[in-house]
Amino acid sequence: MDKRSAFASNRRSTPVPLFASIGHQDNWGKVVRVLNALRADHLRPLGADEVRDVVEWIPPRTVVRVRIRSWPDRREIDGVYIDTFLPPEALGPSSFRAYVGRIQEAAQAAEREGVRIAALGGFTSIVLEGDLGILDTKGTSVFTTGNSLTTAYIVKGIEEACRRLGVDLTQAELLVVGSTGDIGSACVRDLMRRVRSIALCARNPRRLQCQLEGVEKAGARAVADTDVSKLLPRADVVILAASARQGEISLAGLPDHAVVCDAGYPKNASVSDDRLLERLFHGGMGFARGGFDFEPDLLDVIYDFPLRGIGHGCMLEGIALAFEGRFEAFSTGRGEITPDAVETIWRIAERHGMGLAPLYNHEGLWSESIGAQEQTPPS
Ligand code: NDP
Repeated sequence: MDKRSAFASNRRSTPVPLFASIGHQDNWGKVVRVLNALRADHLRPLGADEVRDVVEWIPPRTVVRVRIRSWPDRREIDGVYIDTFLPPEALGPSSFRAYVGRIQEAAQAAEREGVRIAALGGFTSIVLEGDLGILDTKGTSVFTTGNSLTTAYIVKGIEEACRRLGVDLTQAELLVVGSTGDIGSACVRDLMRRVRSIALCARNPRRLQCQLEGVEKAGARAVADTDVSKLLPRADVVILAASARQGEISLAGLPDHAVVCDAGYPKNASVSDDRLLERLFHGGMGFARGGFDFEPDLLDVIYDFPLRGIGHGCMLEGIALAFEGRFEAFSTGRGEITPDAVETIWRIAERHGMGLAPLYNHEGLWSESIGAQEQTPPS
C-alpha cells in the first residue's frame, strides 16, 4: 500500500478530528520533506527546484493526523495539522499580505475536516493581522491565533531562565523586539511592572511612540527606538518576537550576562558569539506531558525539537481549549491580549499537562549544569 492510500484508509477509520493546527514550514528543506512524504511510494521524490516550482499550485491541506493525550488523566483527542504551504520567502516584512487567500483556504480545509477549533500558527495569523473576520468560513469551526498561550510560555520561560542564570528580573532592563506586535505587546503588558525598566523596539516609529506613551502612562520606566543596536548594550533580558526573516536581528553589543528568549518563527536572532548559546533559548514553546503521535510520522520534520512532546504555544492553545471543551476564539485581533487572558490560558494548559517546555536552543536542551549553582542550597 502506498503512503497516500495508507493515509486515506487510516482517515476513514479515525474519528472526526476535534482540533486543527494551521501552519507553515520555516525553510525550503522542510517543505521538500513534507511534500515528498505525501507522495505515493512509487513516485520518485521531488527535488528542491521542482518543489519550488510546484508549491504555489498546491492548495493548503491536511498533511498529518494528530493524536494527543492529556496528563495525568491520559484522555486522548484527535486533530489534524494543515499546512498552508506558504513559501518561506513569504515570511518577511513586505510580501506576506499576498497570501491571505491561502490562509482562507486553510481555514476552509479545517471546516471540511469538521474540527470545532483551529489555531492559526506563526505567520498564518500575521498575514491576517489578527483579523479573523476575513477568514471567509461558514462558522462551523472557531479560530484562535494561539498567541495568549505563546505569551504565557515566553513569560514563564523568561522567569525560569532568569532563575537558573541568577538574573534578578525585578532589577533588569527588558528589551522586547517586535514590541508593537500581538505577542510582543502582550509580553510588554505582562512584564512591564515586574522589571526595572523596559526597552521597546519595532520599525514603525508612529506605533512605537504610541506604545511608549501608553507604557509610561501605566507607570513603567521605558525607552523606545527603531534601531535595536542602540538598545542592546543596556539590556539584561531580551525577548525577540518580531515577524522578521530568519536571523534578521543581530545581537552584537549585548552584554555577556544577558538572557535571550527567541520566540520568532522563523528564528529572529543571528548569533555570532557561541557563548551566547548558553543564555539563549527558543521561547513560546510548551511540552505536552501526555505525548502525541503523528500519522504519517513527520514529527522529525515538522517538530524537529530536541524532545518529543515539545510544541508551539500557538498550536497548543487550540488543543488546550479542545481538552477543556472551550470552543471559543480565545485570542483574536492584534494587541489585545491581557495579562488575565495569559494567566487563564496558562492554567488551562497546565491542567491538561501542557506546561513549559524544557529550555533549549538549536544546539539542543540547555545543559543540566546551567543554573545548577543557583539551584544548590547553600551548605
Ligand atoms: P505581529 O505581526 O503581530 O508583530 C510583529 C512585530 O515585529 C511588530 O511589532 C513589527 O513591528 C515587528 N517587526 C517586524 N520586523 C521587525 C524587525 N526587523 N525589527 C524589529 N521589529 C520588527 O506578529 P506576532 O506577534 O503574531 O508574531 C511575532 C513572531 O512570533 C513571529 O515570528 C511569529 O511567527 C512568531 N510566533 C511564534 C510562536 C511560538 O509558538 N513560539 C507562535 C506564534 C507566532 P514593525 O512592523 O513596526 O516593525
